Amino acid sequence: MRLSQGFWQTYKETPAEAEIPSHQLMLRAGLIHKSAAGIYSYLPFGYRTVRKVENIVREEMDKAGCHELLMTVVTPGDLWQESGRWDAMGGEMLKFKDKADRDLCISPTNEEAITDIFRKTVKSYKQLPITLYQINTKFRDEIRPRFGLMRGREFTMKDAYSFHADKACLDEVYENLFQTYCRIFDRLGFEYSAVEADAGNMGSSDSKTHEFQVIADTGEDEIIYCAENGYAANIEKAQTKRSCIDYDFNDQKLVEVETKAQQTIADVCKFLEKPQSQSLKSLVYTAVTGEEESDFLLMLVGDDELNEVKLKNYLGADHIAPATDTRLLELGLIKGYIGPVQLKKEMKIIFDQAIDGKAFYMVGANKNDYHFTGFQLERDINEAQVADLRLAKDGDLTIEGDKPVVVKRGIEVGHIFQLGDKYTKAMGVNVLNQNGKAQTPLMGCYGLGITRVVAAAIEQCHDEKGIIWPQEIAPYQIYFASIAKSDEFKAEAESVYQSLLKAGFEVIYDDRKAGAGFKFKDADLLGLPLRVVMGERDYKESGELEIVERKSGEKHTVKLESLIDKIKELL
Ligand code: ATP
Ligand code: MG
Repeated sequence: MRLSQGFWQTYKETPAEAEIPSHQLMLRAGLIHKSAAGIYSYLPFGYRTVRKVENIVREEMDKAGCHELLMTVVTPGDLWQESGRWDAMGGEMLKFKDKADRDLCISPTNEEAITDIFRKTVKSYKQLPITLYQINTKFRDEIRPRFGLMRGREFTMKDAYSFHADKACLDEVYENLFQTYCRIFDRLGFEYSAVEADAGNMGSSDSKTHEFQVIADTGEDEIIYCAENGYAANIEKAQTKRSCIDYDFNDQKLVEVETKAQQTIADVCKFLEKPQSQSLKSLVYTAVTGEEESDFLLMLVGDDELNEVKLKNYLGADHIAPATDTRLLELGLIKGYIGPVQLKKEMKIIFDQAIDGKAFYMVGANKNDYHFTGFQLERDINEAQVADLRLAKDGDLTIEGDKPVVVKRGIEVGHIFQLGDKYTKAMGVNVLNQNGKAQTPLMGCYGLGITRVVAAAIEQCHDEKGIIWPQEIAPYQIYFASIAKSDEFKAEAESVYQSLLKAGFEVIYDDRKAGAGFKFKDADLLGLPLRVVMGERDYKESGELEIVERKSGEKHTVKLESLIDKIKELL
């Protein structure tokens, strides 16, 4: 590709709206064009990378025995009514009506559509298992589209769906796709982790789900990771133990103490000269399940935080939220002084399992300006309800083996999930089993964000000068430039370009009328693996060209005869 004839524009300034490197660099390197918030066109160089990612994914999915198809981007509302998700999807789903007043939507995901195709096509267990996939556009009207392709509204996803006669078969295919995802992310050169994820109320209790997280400081997710035994889970799901249990076991009475104007756990503990781990914090949450609304008092060790996902799952609630000030007043609770004893109105209390029933803690006294010291769960509460509510944190220990964990940030590039019979049941899908009886098949689904992968690759590898592409997905392999004054030398550079093409390399030839400094800045910004430069003076003196590796910055000088071999060695 000759740059003088190309469609490429780079930018010096970083657009103010771009907060993270991948977004900044994709705009500056002219890879994408913003059309509206969270909606981007892929420009020629950017699109080459998108297609390379698609092809890696396609190759590995095909190798795993999956079948590619292409579903419609617009799906009928009827299907979503059948599964019960027309309303449940909320504002993320872009709905509209056609001129005959029929409900339609732009697919945010395709479980309904694939299940519909399946039920009209597959009749017998003999046709199972089967895994179908597509690489297609999705639309989700995200509350906060941001970070460019990382969290877009329109984006490209590879979504796969498998169908099975039984759980053993679902497990087998799930494992096969788990390994396939590992192969894909290995080929992309990612530093990633497959983490246990939260299944929410989607699958049954034994349904597996994993997220593939690319490790990056700018990631939106938090993951808990143990280097010693490999435990890895999304923080929403992670189960760990506190490492700090310097609890107070010295026998004490429940004593009311004045803590005037000290409302936060930190202030009260400082005032009473106690570590926060010897206090309990009280949180009040309102949970909505169907038509029902109920309030819960949650007790956690003072320096722990609540994991809202765990609470929601534990209660089986549709929504949970901290109780409003009005609700607190109605319950007779005083902010800053809430505690589990001497409640004005009876309410359900849940104690986090990290609280030791025999230890003594400081708690709120449900009275303005007062706390209790010497609260003991075993003694002061009849039949306490205990659950795992705390958010895992840095320095915690694994449940098995007491190994320390750390918190890392991650970008979720893939998510695989055992759906069980959620959709096949709701949509009345049956196949005939060995005995000729109708049976509901089980499903798995496997998502991978193609365009998010592109952003994640840049997030993981870049420097102050620009992008550093992993070999497999760089738009081109080689940036070639000649620093030529004379026409005769330009002709020589042209023949080197031709020989690079003939050798089968993907080459950009920077034949623009510009200085070396300008050209090299662009080359670094675009970040192709190799930069090959033919300078008129050097070449005439020594017959040598220069190769620079973008990643390491390492320079090599080579004679023309050995140029192709050297490039082959480096790529
Ligand atoms: P997130 O928690 O980041 O919103 P999700 O759980 O909604 O992700 P899935 O429904 O599992 O994601 O979708 C499968 C994959 O599609 C994700 O792992 C991610 O790589 C990609 N993806 C999801 N939402 C977006 C988005 N708004 N922009 C780009 N890629 C996305
Ligand atoms: Mg989402």
